[in-house]
Amino acid sequence: MAASVTDRFLRYVVIDTQSDAKSSTQPSTEKQKNLGRLLVEELLEIGIADAHLDEHGYVYATIPSNSPKNNVPVICFCSHMDTAPDFSGTNVKPQIVRNYQGGDIRLTGDSNQVIRVADHPVLKDQIGNDIVTSDGTTLLGADDKAGIAEIVAAAEFLIKNPDIKHGAIRILFTTDEEIGRGVDKVDIKKLGADFGYTMDGETAGTIEDETFSADAAEIAIKGVAMHPGFAYGKMENAIRIAGAIIDRLPKDMAPETTKGRDGFIHPTGISGVMEKANLSFIIRDFTEDGLKHKEVLLEKITKEVMGGYPGSSYTFTVKEQYRNMKVVLDRHPEIVDYAVEAIRRAGMTPVRGSIRGGTDGSRLSFMGLPCANIFAGGHAFHSPLEFVSSQDMEKAVKTIVELAKLWEERA
Ligand SMILES: [Zn+2]
Repeated sequence: MAASVTDRFLRYVVIDTQSDAKSSTQPSTEKQKNLGRLLVEELLEIGIADAHLDEHGYVYATIPSNSPKNNVPVICFCSHMDTAPDFSGTNVKPQIVRNYQGGDIRLTGDSNQVIRVADHPVLKDQIGNDIVTSDGTTLLGADDKAGIAEIVAAAEFLIKNPDIKHGAIRILFTTDEEIGRGVDKVDIKKLGADFGYTMDGETAGTIEDETFSADAAEIAIKGVAMHPGFAYGKMENAIRIAGAIIDRLPKDMAPETTKGRDGFIHPTGISGVMEKANLSFIIRDFTEDGLKHKEVLLEKITKEVMGGYPGSSYTFTVKEQYRNMKVVLDRHPEIVDYAVEAIRRAGMTPVRGSIRGGTDGSRLSFMGLPCANIFAGGHAFHSPLEFVSSQDMEKAVKTIVELAKLWEERA
């Protein structure tokens, strides 16, 4: 199992699968299908007869049930094939630090890139492990090719060990998760799973059952424009109004000043001339109430600022983006309970976490496939310092196998 998961991972990361938000096609970049094709080949090779790539670039495959029970829920394991547009994924040269003995890791291709223990204290839990990094000139792609390697390795293990009883297991590899389109074209009916897990978290042992709830807000300001020479007492410059709104945002409610379960109001765009200005925001919170509260606050600030500009007007628009998947997962507590138990059986202490963002799973949950997120073992996502250890990937493989067993056992 050990050789298998790391070997697979090393094969996948050298294939460039960066997604592109500016593209309107699905997948956003054709090259993502190169990995898809390889995965289909490997899945067919290990004996998964229905593995295929669909026209949108998704990989679907099924490990048939070998259980005498006919009531075992169908479980889906899902990971994404694309890597983040934030950093280059072209020509990835993975490096392995074998039997890591502590200390900072200087990357061989760019000596300015150092994975420091001070910045990544999780390194202290990796003593004796084999750590895979990039050479510092690209990201590694552990997000989420570690998840893919783990699912394929677990599939191979289950097929080679038919004495381990499990229900039908559906495998889904998506494209374009990093640009928020990961599940746009997923055929939930064809997938036919009852419950699911994304293998897309970080530290070994973590299971996440909630994500942010997310809205976007737009403020469009109409000012009073005129020749600056005749402006005394009359001009209301929309640029100044926009600046005043930003200035009044609570400083303790920003992404850079919040962590854990606290949400934020985050200005993401500003454009304007004297006559009109537009402000874009994303609002994040773990509860619907918290989200509402922040939106009310943002509009209150806007109103107060506008009070000083009687000739000007504004519109305030909120658009729903995604919702905390916990609402859905709480209706099926066994999804998280079994994951916690599987992590324990795989030899770790389970840690429950909240994701300060969304996952494919949060959207799948609302599309009818309740889906929690399990660790894949990677760290420092979307950066040249990204790393993952072979041992943590093996733990994830064990977790998947234990989960397959548990759903059968408890059915
Ligand atoms: Zn990811």
